[in-house]
Amino acid sequence: MNRPPKGSRDLIKAINRNLVLNLIQSRGPLSRTDIARLSGLSLATVSEITGELIAAGLIHEVGTGESSGGRRPVLLRLNPQAGFVVGVKLMKHAIASALTDLDAKVLHHRVTSLRSARLPQVLRAIIRAVEATIAESGVDRSRVLGIGIGMAGIVDGESGICRYSPFFGWRNVQIAEPIAAHFGIPVYLENDVNTLTIAEQWFGYGRNVEHFVVVTVGRGIGAGIVVNGQFYRGALGGAGELGHITLLEDGPLCDCGKRGCLEALAADPAVLRAARAAIARGEPTRLAEADPLTLEAVVAAAEAGDEWARKLLADSGRWLGMGIAILVNLLNPQLVIVGGEGVRAGEWRFGPMREALRAHAFNGLADELEVVLEPAGDETWARGAACVVLGELFKPPIHRRARQGWVPIPA
Ligand SMILES: [Zn+2]
Repeated sequence: MNRPPKGSRDLIKAINRNLVLNLIQSRGPLSRTDIARLSGLSLATVSEITGELIAAGLIHEVGTGESSGGRRPVLLRLNPQAGFVVGVKLMKHAIASALTDLDAKVLHHRVTSLRSARLPQVLRAIIRAVEATIAESGVDRSRVLGIGIGMAGIVDGESGICRYSPFFGWRNVQIAEPIAAHFGIPVYLENDVNTLTIAEQWFGYGRNVEHFVVVTVGRGIGAGIVVNGQFYRGALGGAGELGHITLLEDGPLCDCGKRGCLEALAADPAVLRAARAAIARGEPTRLAEADPLTLEAVVAAAEAGDEWARKLLADSGRWLGMGIAILVNLLNPQLVIVGGEGVRAGEWRFGPMREALRAHAFNGLADELEVVLEPAGDETWARGAACVVLGELFKPPIHRRARQGWVPIPA
């Protein structure tokens, strides 16, 4: 009989081990028999792998399940304290960072201000933020398995290079490597909207959903896409630039330099710009007294009955619904998760969004579509970046980003 060469046997074993770990993480607690049934592996293979995972401290036995006659089966679940990861959200003027366990539970979170846009200073600031996060969490540095970094812009996750950053004006700069060299653990760079999408895929509403999109609304508008259970990046890592779909020819100027983009019509700054224009025209609105004029002030005015505030939020929602309808027609998702800071505008914005989405989606595609709102602040973004590392730990080796090395299974 021809045995597969040693290298491929190791790979098959690694794939099976991650399959088992993934099942326990996503569906656990499970018995060994459950795992064999769900994975298609033999009970002997499952017993061998779970034995190794228990020895490594990654999973443990937690009591017994329902018996189908005979002895009650022992259940296995992930040991969330078997390792830890750090997530970083790099923003224009601040760095949010969080340390999480393997269940993506945030154990410590901090925000550090950032005063420079120059690459060496920003890299040093990220390193300091990560060091402070680990130190303040009380977790030993040797137990941190990897670092995830999320940032706005076009990011090549494969190579850890930021292709374009609108905030910092960077083009083709290496971010992941110098930080990995400092800490001696894998570092994953990812577009920030993608980090939230990966977080939803592994730990949120997107769990076990084959086709879904995450749309973020705040300072900008973006989208993360999961198709056939796989996260979709596009050729350059730029898939999901929903905010820059042109919806109105000769419309308002966008940060990207073009006119009439969805973002320029519907993101938070667009709402405030329209509010200032209404005030300047002398429209009857109590927003004229708002100081400072913020999205919260617009929402508060809408709650208090101000017709203009309601109209501004509804206009934003309608453009958003029209943009998401394009995504629905292209991808036919089962689920749309709307996240980001802009979610705090509530139903004044998202009621009209749902109406416009149903009005503009192709016949039938919005009928069964589920739309959920999930507010995101600094901590959620940092946790999202941590989930990129956790996703790498739980996914099969063949789908991993080989160039950055594997997240080590703790010994
Ligand atoms: Zn644009």
